[in-house]
Amino acid sequence: MNTSPDILLIYTGGTIGMIKDFETGALVSFDFDELLLNIPELKQLDCNIDTISFEKPIDSSDMNVDQWKELGDIINDNYTTYDGFVVLHGSDTMSYTASAISFMFENLSKPIIFTGSQLPIGDLRTDAKENLITAVQISALQKKGKPVVAEVGLYFEYKLLRANRTTKINAEHFEAFESLNYPALVESGVHLKINSSFLRTVNRRKKMVYHTHFDNNIIIIKMFPGINENILKSIFELKTIKGIILETYGAGNTTTQKWFVTMLSNAIKRGVPVVNVTQCIGGSVEMGKYDTSIALKKAGVISGKDITTEAAVAKLMYLLGENLPLKVLKTIYETSLRGEMLEN
Ligand code: ASP
Repeated sequence: MNTSPDILLIYTGGTIGMIKDFETGALVSFDFDELLLNIPELKQLDCNIDTISFEKPIDSSDMNVDQWKELGDIINDNYTTYDGFVVLHGSDTMSYTASAISFMFENLSKPIIFTGSQLPIGDLRTDAKENLITAVQISALQKKGKPVVAEVGLYFEYKLLRANRTTKINAEHFEAFESLNYPALVESGVHLKINSSFLRTVNRRKKMVYHTHFDNNIIIIKMFPGINENILKSIFELKTIKGIILETYGAGNTTTQKWFVTMLSNAIKRGVPVVNVTQCIGGSVEMGKYDTSIALKKAGVISGKDITTEAAVAKLMYLLGENLPLKVLKTIYETSLRGEMLEN
């Protein structure tokens, strides 16, 4: 009897499966079958791998909520059949998609590992092979017949990170992702070092719940010195706006000018959630730590704590999609749902 884990490898697009177009010289996605031909090593792994590809593989810069759902549906439709999932995805928006997928699958009890590469699989110096092979290996890790990793991870350059804690920090280096506020889940050296205490624990009695509704009527506003009142007002007063993410300075600070604070509290009074996340790639928002953020706290701004902007976007779209009253949304937003922020 074959008891090796069954893994579904899903190709969405990205550099990992790209080749040079002879006419334009630009990188374009190519047929998924060719991708597998380039990695015969996959057959040596102790697992059964099936593959499926987006009908039209895309550069991840073209990802949107419809493709998040397309990917989520593939995983959900195959959830009971497979022991683990590996998603090949462009690195540019991988942290956004992977964060979104983490919110879509409540009570996840299987690994969903995202990976990709900085150089195409066919390139001599490619980083794709190690990334893909180890991502598959991690997705197939089992202990007493149960997956070791039961969460959405992102594997890149010798590290498995919690996906909704990651940010793409480099367009050049093979080490393209960072998770400054949460340690690596697995480190790959001569051996795979599993940092068990950082992995999410699963309550197997709870059934997996699949959520699909994202409301994308939101905007990210990055604070900068000299930000213009009229331009900001025109955004805050948009009739269609359902949620705002403010990328603030340091520990959650903004200008304290009266027009700014009034504009925020008016939006919140109208029922529009405003989330405070820091522009820094590490550390946390602490509203009230400095005088400059006390007014935000009083106005009812939601603390994004140490969440990444990528996870903040996915979480806001997800919770808006659940149609919650603002007070409830604020409480849930400030709670860690999938390990995406500090617990308290
Ligand atoms: N532009 C590519 C993408 O995100 C880059 C990559 O795959 O790394 O699809």
